Amino acid sequence: MARDTGSSCRLCRREGEKLFLKGTRCYTHRCAIERRDYAPGDHGAKRASKLSNFGIQMREKQKLKRIYGLLEKQFRLYFASAVQSKGVTGTVLLQLLERRLDNVIYRLGFATSRKAARQIVSHGFVMINDKPVNISSVLVKQNDEISLRFGSDQKGQKMVEANFEASKARTAPAWLTAEINHFKGKILRLPERDDINFPINEQLIVELYSR
Ligand code: SF4
Repeated sequence: MARDTGSSCRLCRREGEKLFLKGTRCYTHRCAIERRDYAPGDHGAKRASKLSNFGIQMREKQKLKRIYGLLEKQFRLYFASAVQSKGVTGTVLLQLLERRLDNVIYRLGFATSRKAARQIVSHGFVMINDKPVNISSVLVKQNDEISLRFGSDQKGQKMVEANFEASKARTAPAWLTAEINHFKGKILRLPERDDINFPINEQLIVELYSR
């Protein structure tokens, strides 16, 4: 799958806020945005922050896209799906993104970031309802059971155990339940708007794509 391979911290600095893209580093004084809270580039520190309506909508879209590590084309497909659904477009968009398998692995605490979760999935460690799944974009459903299996890969298991330790401060959202010690999790219900715990104004994104 194509993905953005640029510096994660640069993306946070561009958006002017922490997007928590780098796992444990994001919670330490080594976080780039705590040291240099201005946009990247030669003139980033001087750049005026007065944005037009279009600019504000665009930044909100970029922020959401970056949080979930998606490229424009992928993001637009989610938006198109949300438009076709019967629900409120912005809310459905967020629900679809939350239901991605890589996000679920991250939310359960098996990975310290969504990027790291994608690696866990692509290495073939993840099963849904006892069937191996190595595609990060798979959408989970209510009652799906997620489990990790490592076979003889001790290194993979140790990495995930270290992730548990590092993710202890984060609790799984209410729509999920995690049995960390057994490398298992379950989708209790689909996520609701209130379960999404980072500041985002999805209506701005709907307005952007409705222009
Ligand atoms: Fe963003 Fe994390 Fe880098 Fe801080 S350390 S700038 S939160 S990716």
